[in-house]
Amino acid sequence: MKQARIVLRSVEKRFATRSGTTVALAAVDLEIRGGEFVCLVGPSGCGKSTLLNILAGFDFPSRGSVEIDGAIVDGPQRRVVTLFQSYGLFPWRSVLRNVEYGLEVSGVPRRQRRDQAMQCLDLVGLSSFAEHHPHELSGGMQQRIALARALAVDPECILMDEPFGALDAITRIKLQEELARIWEEKRKTIICVTHDIEESVFLADRILVMATNPGRVKTVIPVPLPRPRSRTSPEFDELRRRVYAELELVHDSKPDFEI
Ligand code: ADP
Repeated sequence: MKQARIVLRSVEKRFATRSGTTVALAAVDLEIRGGEFVCLVGPSGCGKSTLLNILAGFDFPSRGSVEIDGAIVDGPQRRVVTLFQSYGLFPWRSVLRNVEYGLEVSGVPRRQRRDQAMQCLDLVGLSSFAEHHPHELSGGMQQRIALARALAVDPECILMDEPFGALDAITRIKLQEELARIWEEKRKTIICVTHDIEESVFLADRILVMATNPGRVKTVIPVPLPRPRSRTSPEFDELRRRVYAELELVHDSKPDFEI
């Protein structure tokens, strides 16, 4: 099973603006294990998108370096895929042909790419919708297809930018459960930006709490809860409170339970 180990060494990103220099990221040092699920949470402007863009190879650090499996990231990598909030499906292609797209671009023969795409559709529970078009499906289903498309190319790492941000609360919970199940099966390295604190506690092995001015990783919170996770357990609640406290959204962070 291919999984990417990612190492960030003193990653700094500065943007020159009219009013001076913005430090979007200040000296981020981080090691992400292969197969780890990491969530990034933090207020607007703390550098989450900048960090994700640098990991994706869409942008570059002003200082420091990012390595994936020992190789410096110097541009977009085939083994890293990004899942956005807007599903990015092609409306004129069927669901199956959307999922096949990355394989088609890589020149995988038709038969093989059909099989691989169908397996991924199966994984997200949508194989019976293979011949539908995206507009015939709900937002939640479209995002599951985007996930199937990401998985179809068998990446080592999936970067997610608020993947469930456009979905209603119930659909969101269902997709979080589905993603947790798929991650346990596939063990891809996942780095997911989210504004949803509960989502981060539900999904992550570690939560990176970020802060602004300068953008930085303020605290790393390990989530040692067994999977599948129960959102109603006292331990879950305690971790949620801890993330809130780190984000300075509540003052009472005194633990009631030992974790
Ligand atoms: P987040 O995703 O956490 O909201 P960003 O990574 O988008 O934060 O931005 C971090 C900081 O860098 C912000 O202050 C933002 O204004 C600044 N920034 C981001 N991209 C640019 C850019 N292309 N030019 C100038 N400043 C930028």
